[in-house]
Amino acid sequence: MRKNWVLHGALAVFAAHVATPAVAQIIKPNERAQAIKQHPQIIAQFGGAITGPVASYVSNVGAKVATTAGLKDQCTFTVINSDVVNAFAVPGCYIYITRGLMAIMNSEDELASVLGHEVGHIVGKHSLKRTQASTLSTLGAIALGIATKSDEIMQTAGQLAQVYTLSYSRKQEHESDDFGVRYLQANGYNLYAASDMLAALAAQEALDAKVKNRQSRNVPTWARSHPITTERVARTANAARAAKASRDVPPELVRPYLTALAGLRVGDDPEQGFVDGRRFSHPSLKITFEVPQGFSLNNTSEAVEIEGPNSLKGRFGGGSALSGTLDAYAIAKVRETLGQTPATFGVATPGTTNGMPTVTLLARAQTRSGLVDVGVIAYNLNGRAFHFVMMGPADGLSPTFPITQTFRELSATEIAALRPRELEIVTVRAGDTVASLAARMAYPDFKTERFLMINGMSAERPLKPGELLKIVRFSPAGR
Ligand SMILES: [Zn+2]
Repeated sequence: MRKNWVLHGALAVFAAHVATPAVAQIIKPNERAQAIKQHPQIIAQFGGAITGPVASYVSNVGAKVATTAGLKDQCTFTVINSDVVNAFAVPGCYIYITRGLMAIMNSEDELASVLGHEVGHIVGKHSLKRTQASTLSTLGAIALGIATKSDEIMQTAGQLAQVYTLSYSRKQEHESDDFGVRYLQANGYNLYAASDMLAALAAQEALDAKVKNRQSRNVPTWARSHPITTERVARTANAARAAKASRDVPPELVRPYLTALAGLRVGDDPEQGFVDGRRFSHPSLKITFEVPQGFSLNNTSEAVEIEGPNSLKGRFGGGSALSGTLDAYAIAKVRETLGQTPATFGVATPGTTNGMPTVTLLARAQTRSGLVDVGVIAYNLNGRAFHFVMMGPADGLSPTFPITQTFRELSATEIAALRPRELEIVTVRAGDTVASLAARMAYPDFKTERFLMINGMSAERPLKPGELLKIVRFSPAGR
């Protein structure tokens, strides 16, 4: 979650599009106008934009790709400050790519491949078809796991992000892959970059599932919205073979790409908080809490999402100065969650947790998926308000109670121990091995697997002196 908790009630995305595609003009003025309007909202929902050398690098490569696609000077490329591995295209040719995806790529060719694929969705007008196919109720159900027609639920749930991370169809993916390979070829990039990227993304998903010991259902990732199939890997590799492309990436396109990545943040940003196993800690807000075994945490830019057994869902947020009473704050949070859904409210009950004044409030709502209990606990921590919203089937909320008891302020020592991570680009020296470099990875577990994955290696291999590779280190103090 961000330090400043802001709700972005942008429903602009649902404004009706005209369904008749122009014959000659790929990007229509109304699409561009809407994309310009949504741009700051999308950036905010995903955790902000990254500026500087990485952003310029991506813009330059994107411009080459766009020109090849017949969209010279018509596309905008933005790097987003999110560790989630994702890229997506918004009608109007606004293309977004996360630092999480940048970190697992290994050449400019691969970057061009991803950007070309996204531009391909614009040229194929896929987002437009997809946006029209999605409905409010579908998105509401995705967002909070209950089916209602409430606009308010939409407003609390990062709906803009959800729209652009819905799955494309198999046909659309193939079409975009074909466009992408065509743009690679026209710019002299290595055509194998497309199939290598797909394989790398599949490897990242697999390792992520292994590390977290679960399949995360609600984090929008590239692999989820652009389903990666063995068919897609084979099709793109066949296209490269058919064009008689060389398997070797020219070294000059590896070096500038990796050099641009030096110092890139990896994992959670201190301004957005850290998820470490079952614990969430936010050094800037100076707070922490922990979920029990069987629960999982997802740190989105707007809130921390909690998932538990038996359809339990929750969100943690807050951090702003409390204006008004804690009762009123708790009631507002329940109303934000339920919107117009019919509900019976309990009585706001004061209490104390770890020395902080609290207010607890329960409501029971009638939804299309049955009776749902919503529980809110609001905390007053030295004048700042925080809260959990928990939802589950009627009478099923009690397993979430321990979470609310672990919320507390972080000590100065704890804050000092929360260290951000970043990419370090290392030049292989004689005697370096996968094992010796992987040992430097700043993680407690899966060091070798993580090292192989971020360097695009499917297995251990001898390293060549002089080659550039990535490792993840703890950021030097103050970064
Ligand atoms: Zn796609």
